[in-house]
Amino acid sequence: MPAEATTMGDPIVPGSRREAALQALADVPREPGSKKPDPIVIVDDMVRRFGGLTAVDVQHVEIQRGAITALIGPNGAGKSTFFNQLTGFDQPDTGAWVFNGTSLKGVKPHQVARRGMVRTFQLTKALSKLTVIENMRLGAKGQSGESMFRAMFAPFWRAQENANTDRADDLLARFKLDAKREDFAGSLSGGQRKLLEMARALMVEPELVMLDEPMAGVNPALKQSLLGHVKGLREEGMTVLFVEHDMDMVRDISDWVIVMAQGQIIAEGPPYSIMANQTVIDAYLGSHHDEPLAPEEESARITEDEAAEGRGVLDANPGATEDEA
Ligand code: ADP
Ligand code: MG
Repeated sequence: MPAEATTMGDPIVPGSRREAALQALADVPREPGSKKPDPIVIVDDMVRRFGGLTAVDVQHVEIQRGAITALIGPNGAGKSTFFNQLTGFDQPDTGAWVFNGTSLKGVKPHQVARRGMVRTFQLTKALSKLTVIENMRLGAKGQSGESMFRAMFAPFWRAQENANTDRADDLLARFKLDAKREDFAGSLSGGQRKLLEMARALMVEPELVMLDEPMAGVNPALKQSLLGHVKGLREEGMTVLFVEHDMDMVRDISDWVIVMAQGQIIAEGPPYSIMANQTVIDAYLGSHHDEPLAPEEESARITEDEAAEGRGVLDANPGATEDEA
């Protein structure tokens, strides 16, 4: 099948990374756990239980390098928990997973980030009280939590500091946040927060960027800009794995879609095939009797403080942060 028939959205630019990603995935079987030609992440037999509830139960999944993969599924499917296992914020009961061929079992979140796998986090209350540039500098330390705050006060080489500041300023310019450099992060709009979260994650020069609901709480005007930035990551050679309820975004930017329900991978394929997949439709209907395939953004979210403590928290209003609410 020609690549054009397997995707939606913008025309495919010849020689683009998008074209390469689509071509690489063209012959991948459209079934759960399918092997990819060049996987950056491989997961085997990952189980995470909370008491009697099995939140994640993934037998096998591979994430293709250089592609944008969407992870979708009904609320409570285990998507955020799965992200937490991969990035070291939580440890599964069983399972093996490798990033770039190396096991990440037991590796701490900031070390995972340094190795090139980062996830974005909501701007929490604590980070809202820091300026935009301070948030960016913290991003360079890997990821979040108390260790990041400790690191901020630890002495470090001026050359490194200057390099970090240069990178931070480049990223702020790219995300059009340079005018906000000295403003408190808490004063940013919902969309600007999402941009800052993404920019902060890029401070470690990641290979794999994981975005958990990047569009939640973003107004339509800024959505296009965010979409453009995500596509830009792929064109720079990064791999993107994102969780999103906004099916327009999934359709528009993903090269491949993985569907989770009740902790398991139940379907995989290009966006157009997934949206027409009966198993997927049934999974959504099963948990949202009265909702369409693009449910509104009311979902389980975890903030970085909670993640650092290994707790999940249900937030019925993911778009707003504490100080806005
Ligand atoms: P999703 O991100 O797909 O909406 P989650 O990964 O947040 O789903 O949650 C999957 C399931 O695990 C849900 O039933 C949720 O209530 C439960 N869960 C998540 N984190 C915890 C936790 N720390 N303690 C207990 N249950 C949790
Ligand atoms: Mg979630």
